[in-house]
Amino acid sequence: MRSSAEPIHRTSLGRGVGLLMVALVAMGLIIALLAGRARATLDDLRRADRINNVLPTMTMLMEDLLNAETGQRGYLLTQRSSYLQPYRDAVRNLDRRVEELGARDQDPAHAPKLARVRELVNLKLGEMNQTIRLHDSGRQDEALELVLNDQGLHHMDELRDVLGELTSSLRAERAAISERLSREAGHTELLMLAGLAMLGLFTVMATSQVVLRSRELLRTQKRLQGIADNVPALISHYDADGLLRFANAEVGRVFHADPAALRGSTLEQVRGTENAAQMRPFVERVMRGEAVSFDAEQVIDGETMHFHQRFVPELVNGRVEGFYACSMDITDRKRTEALVAASERRMKAVTDNLPVFITYIDAERRMRYVNEALRTWFGLDPQAAIGLHIDDVFGQASTSQRSAQLDLALSGERVEFEIASVMLGKQRHLRTVYVPDVVADGRVQGIFTLSIDITVMKQAEAQLARLASSDALTGLPNRREFDQALAAALSRQRRLAREGRVMALLFLDIDRFKAINDTHGHGVGDIVLREFAAVLRRAVRGSDHVARIAGDEFVAVLEGLNRPEEAEQVAAKIVDAVRAARPAEVAITTSIGIATVADVEAPAMDLIALADRALYQAKHQGRDGWAALRWPGQDQRR
Ligand code: GH3
Ligand code: MG
Repeated sequence: MRSSAEPIHRTSLGRGVGLLMVALVAMGLIIALLAGRARATLDDLRRADRINNVLPTMTMLMEDLLNAETGQRGYLLTQRSSYLQPYRDAVRNLDRRVEELGARDQDPAHAPKLARVRELVNLKLGEMNQTIRLHDSGRQDEALELVLNDQGLHHMDELRDVLGELTSSLRAERAAISERLSREAGHTELLMLAGLAMLGLFTVMATSQVVLRSRELLRTQKRLQGIADNVPALISHYDADGLLRFANAEVGRVFHADPAALRGSTLEQVRGTENAAQMRPFVERVMRGEAVSFDAEQVIDGETMHFHQRFVPELVNGRVEGFYACSMDITDRKRTEALVAASERRMKAVTDNLPVFITYIDAERRMRYVNEALRTWFGLDPQAAIGLHIDDVFGQASTSQRSAQLDLALSGERVEFEIASVMLGKQRHLRTVYVPDVVADGRVQGIFTLSIDITVMKQAEAQLARLASSDALTGLPNRREFDQALAAALSRQRRLAREGRVMALLFLDIDRFKAINDTHGHGVGDIVLREFAAVLRRAVRGSDHVARIAGDEFVAVLEGLNRPEEAEQVAAKIVDAVRAARPAEVAITTSIGIATVADVEAPAMDLIALADRALYQAKHQGRDGWAALRWPGQDQRR
């Protein structure tokens, strides 16, 4: 990626340039050092040159002085004026020599000595001129005296000494300079070599740095481009001016453009004004340095696409210099979500309209899903129940009633059970299934519960049971029911016998009923049967069992009697009540066979047979009455 690679490029270039700079600075230092040295050398050479000029001048000064003295003395001694010309030449030269000496030897240390030389030369000249003047004015003696004067000789000696000192000092200085120059020449050569070597080395290093970095940069750039082009996302980079600096292949694919050709385009040009307007607020935020994420819709080629966008600021030294935009095409996900939502809506419509209570409860026993039945059955808002603990939705009493089944289901077992619950004051019978939601690793994530209201079915079932055990015409229990009731009564009698209680089985048959049917018709016969049942029912205690076991045959089981005679009293009462009844204006009577049992166990069938036998007796005795027999079989009178 070009933009992100730029800092790398700058670094590598910087490193190369840095190395070159170091080399140049080092070279500069060497050159400055060399220049300093060259200046010193030049000074030394100038000084040596001056010394070389001064030394002969001194010799010539001395020579001229001696020549002047020779000319002066020759003139004084020979009186020949031919000596005056060399004297004058020498004197003329002396002035120049002294001047030259002063100009050439400017060493401040030599200044007092040079001043003394000038002084002595002047003294000597003055002395010589004076002798010549004395001589020319005829005072030869005085002139000679002056020549031979100690003073003049002394001046000459001093001059020789001073010049000698100066000469040897200058010679020593010249020797030192020449030694220094030869030494410096070696150093300078070394420095030059070192400087060149350094420059060469640093240049090579700098160049290789730049070359290496450039190669690395190229590789990095290619690698990043490769990655960016193969990411299933749109990646682009915009600079601080809002111009696109990089776009990966996906951007080109979605917007049908060459990514390279998009460079320099604005967001509006790349994404279209409408889409760009959506993004502007986020661009402003990212340019303030904030990373932002958002979902946006874009219409591309007339098709609405969904993108998840992320803008990340490009920070360089704390300044926002642009931003990276990464867009994921989430159109497929959005479509799937829409499909799932539609399917969920349909599912909800189905489940909400089923007469079934459906929930999903998670492992923490919190409600995760519940259908509309929660409202119709419990009067609770399904939406408000989501996330609540089941104890808080149904009440602890209700959930603890089902805790065993909940525990089983949450341990991974499918549970099916029936339960009765009071909801909104109404008793409902439910058939409930708990199905564990087992995930891949075997963990139970929750349970689906499904309850069907089977109250109506339960009622129908009870009705059927009632029908199966009762006689449709009279509503009394039928033979089947009677068999069970008799067995139960007999087992109770085992306990009651110890208390001295007696049990009786009454066998009743309407007298000459066939004739009633024949005379009055079956309809009247039925009325007679129903009325007979009602009379019988009224004649015994509520706790006594009464049943119709066949056509005009009825039974009654009397329990907890104190004596067998009590059964006879009841039979007499029934016989009287039947006679008095006159259903449908028809006179009827009944005959009753009584079988009583006290302390001995009696099989039901035997007891029935005994009662039947007693009935037979009652019929034989002329009907409209009763006969009693005692288990295990003592006949009794009417
Ligand atoms: P008895 O005094 O010896 O008992 O004489 P009976 O005529 O009553 O003789 P029985 O008890 O054998 O007759 C029973 C009659 O009851 C026969 C049958 O037609 C009649 N019956 C049986 N079931 C019904 C019924 O449900 N309705 C009517 N109307 N008649 C029935
Ligand atoms: Mg009968």
